[in-house]
Amino acid sequence: MPRVDRLLAREDLQPIREQVGPALFAELVRAAIDAARRALLAGQRAVVPTDDEVSADVLERAARFASGRARPVINATGVLLHTNLGRAPLSERAAAAVRGAMQGYSSIELDLETGKRGRRAGFVDEALASVSGAEAALVVNNCAAAVLLLLSATASGRGVIVSRGELVEIGGGFRVPDVMAQSGARLIEVGTTNKTRLADYERALDEHPDAVAILRVHQGNFRQLGFVERPALADLGALAASRGVMLLKDLGGGALVDLAQAGFVGEPLVTDCVAAGCTAVTFSTDKVLGGPQGGALVGARDVIERARRHPLARALRAGRLPIVALEATLESYLLGRAWQEIPALAMAKASVGELAARVDGWVAELSARGLDAERVDSEAEMGGGTLAARAIPSVALALTPRSMSAGELGRSLRLGAPAILARVQDARVLLDARTIRPEEGPPLMLRLFEALAPEGSSLSRPAESS
Ligand SMILES: *Cc1c(COP(=O)(O)O)cnc(C)c1O
Repeated sequence: MPRVDRLLAREDLQPIREQVGPALFAELVRAAIDAARRALLAGQRAVVPTDDEVSADVLERAARFASGRARPVINATGVLLHTNLGRAPLSERAAAAVRGAMQGYSSIELDLETGKRGRRAGFVDEALASVSGAEAALVVNNCAAAVLLLLSATASGRGVIVSRGELVEIGGGFRVPDVMAQSGARLIEVGTTNKTRLADYERALDEHPDAVAILRVHQGNFRQLGFVERPALADLGALAASRGVMLLKDLGGGALVDLAQAGFVGEPLVTDCVAAGCTAVTFSTDKVLGGPQGGALVGARDVIERARRHPLARALRAGRLPIVALEATLESYLLGRAWQEIPALAMAKASVGELAARVDGWVAELSARGLDAERVDSEAEMGGGTLAARAIPSVALALTPRSMSAGELGRSLRLGAPAILARVQDARVLLDARTIRPEEGPPLMLRLFEALAPEGSSLSRPAESS
């Protein structure tokens, strides 16, 4: 069998020691030898592997390890809030704030006026309340945490009424009935999958005197069509107020500006939910709000304060860097500059003409190198569990490789530097311009020249043949 010390000393494996450090390097070498030994014992191979074979396996293991690290990706999918790509890209204002807070200390829990301990994320909470039109706000780690905290703080051991049409799974294992059970609240189901009426809620309130709240869950990641009905939020708000119970709304998205301005119709605004009489509203700060990962609770002061004082609040609190990034993101809203400054919003609002001009520029650059590409119509989506099945017109660069399959080109683009995530459709690779940031154009082109080099050499190149 190849020996550990011989492999550790091999010249061609030394770059790996430099990349991952000596301890992990030794682990990878041992794992590769173990795997070879097991294959031999299991009869999967007949002869003892050579040092070369085992060291090739070490190289592969090291590459797999390195690829597990989060790397910058050019998002060419046309999905604005891609859950696998970290949802919303941060604004320049937010990135600058994070850079400032990253290496130094920051007054995150210090009142500079008094020199004493201050409230963590005080500015964020004030700003969130202001842009939401709510009395108070609290930011935690994500929206799932916000829902868990809200229910734990206000409804543990009590009944909460939910429509059967809203007992949904949001994604990543977040299921409304499970979160509710975890909070200690007792689920009271009303209505049916497709129809729930105000009278259903009224009857449930009559029959369950321990009910303290009605919970409404936004149907963000799916749509019901046809024979469906549910009461208007304002009617539920009026009912809750008249019966002295809370109306809690898990909104998910967190739109603070009307997305219909960008063609995305139907996403409710946070301010509308508050105005409709919700006692508390929960939403993510990295969906359509366009900020860092976080979860917001906004609403009546007493309810928000109960959540703030609950022991879970400490366990679910937001990190220092997200707080700093969210402060800056909310500042864009306070200054009325959200559509210009917040990337997800600016991308959503870019005109088709503007995108077409960018794609035409790319087509020209590629054809100057003898590479075939064309501009095609496309559709962009919001993603991130909001605005399901709604798309807006977009424009894409289409590549039809001949020296490899579209799948192979897609893989090469994913694995290159910078990594590019494109859509592979039949024989074509589509790069949607809407989600590609303008400053990503030049590196994207360089990477395409490189990945498509075999194509260019097979064509005549007028510029070079003269
Ligand atoms: C996305 C979503 C959540 C979960 O939000 P995270 O920030 O990912 O935890 C909860 N509820 C609704 C309605 C959502 O859309």
